[in-house]
Amino acid sequence: MKTIFEKSTGADGIGVWEGSLGDFLPKELLREGKIGLPQLSELDVMRHYKELSDKNFCVEKGFYPLGSCTMKYNPKVNELLASLEGFTNLHPLQTDEESQGALELMYKLQEALKKITGMDAITLQPAAGAHGELTGMMIVKKYFETKGEKNRKKVIVPDSAHGTNPASAKMCGFDIVEVKSNAKGQVDIEALKELLDKDVAAIMMTNPNTLGIFEENVLEISKLMHENGSLLYYDGANFNAVMGWTNPALMGFDIVHLNLHKTFSTPHGGGGPGAGPVGVVESLKEFLPVPVIDYVGGKYVRNYNLSHSIGKVRSFYGNFGVLVRAYAYILMMGNNLKLASADAVLNANYLKEKLKGAYDLPYDEPCMHEFVLSGERQHHQGVSTLGIAKRLMDYNCHPPTVYFPLIVHEALMIEPTESESKEVLDNFIEVMLKIAREIEENPEEVLKSPQTTPVKKIDETLAARHPDLVFKE
Ligand SMILES: *Cc1c(COP(=O)(O)O)cnc(C)c1O
Repeated sequence: MKTIFEKSTGADGIGVWEGSLGDFLPKELLREGKIGLPQLSELDVMRHYKELSDKNFCVEKGFYPLGSCTMKYNPKVNELLASLEGFTNLHPLQTDEESQGALELMYKLQEALKKITGMDAITLQPAAGAHGELTGMMIVKKYFETKGEKNRKKVIVPDSAHGTNPASAKMCGFDIVEVKSNAKGQVDIEALKELLDKDVAAIMMTNPNTLGIFEENVLEISKLMHENGSLLYYDGANFNAVMGWTNPALMGFDIVHLNLHKTFSTPHGGGGPGAGPVGVVESLKEFLPVPVIDYVGGKYVRNYNLSHSIGKVRSFYGNFGVLVRAYAYILMMGNNLKLASADAVLNANYLKEKLKGAYDLPYDEPCMHEFVLSGERQHHQGVSTLGIAKRLMDYNCHPPTVYFPLIVHEALMIEPTESESKEVLDNFIEVMLKIAREIEENPEEVLKSPQTTPVKKIDETLAARHPDLVFKE
């Protein structure tokens, strides 16, 4: 096919195109009228975006204890480093020779994540946690196909799991089998034993799980699974609880994803971009997506040569800017990653102990980096968990995650992270206790919230059915 640059060449050797689009594009694809975009000055556009950003809530504005999401502070030096010209002006199609710096960074990040997870090989390609799960499940599938065990069609998922776990396994064609949690909020070993047969490909687990509770029987579970010829997948979304203290390899897992945008402090929310690197044990190395970054003969290279690769799961090499931020964070923290986890766990236990009198705590266990309250008592008094969440906004706190995990009624899942000071935690405690009192005394008033936010109480059904998406009211 002729390229548009073949017509003539400018003085600097760069192609100059002189034809009309009609020379190259089929007629039916050409637009004839005006496109009808709003005609706006730069100032109009700036005001629009400034207004939107003022309406937004972010960790720089206030406490953001959104459980399972690890909304820790994102150090601004990461932004500075990710915006260095050598990184931002690099094209993904440049040669290995021309990209040594970027490849070195990716290689060293792979090495760091190997140390942190205990895994033997890493791919940086997946763009998020859920994408890592999909990648992991594709590896599980191909692994058993290669072994000639096509009967392994089941994936076991605990009833406390994040919804993306069963969804990712299902997308790969697996049948989902749910395993119950016991009274301590952990996988019920006896129930698990009953589910095990030769059709089970894998179990997907989160540890600590979504209740913020460490699965004490994880070693027994990994032994049972491996004796059954099955694999173990580790959802690393809660890794902020255990960095440097233990790792999924020690627990017996075979495949792991990390959410760099959670644990490793890159910004998230609003849908991305994120990064969900996947680590695997030695026996699954050849199944990773290509390319992986290798170091051969003193040079960093993209290696496409893996014997059983599942192929590519994303264009090029993943969200490179996110990788730069995460690598910067890891280098800056060093061994202090361990302290970050310790502080995250301490902060969560502090809040749990202070709040458990005023709200129900269905699983009264020592927690890791997060814990789950139930708003059941308040629900009976006339304000559901959704009402509590909206009231919190009037006190400049982002609501916790609500109605998840599904095994807790009226769930309020609270994750303070290590970033917050005791003053901020004490203020949150005061606010939560105050809301519990307000609900006892005057639930009607609480139901009017939020009243101090740029968008007040909305009709949720109407907002979902008839979203107002125009540029200006
Ligand atoms: C956030 C999360 C996921 C999904 O990760 P994304 O990066 O949002 O795709 C999966 N499992 C758990 C437990 C999570 O908290």
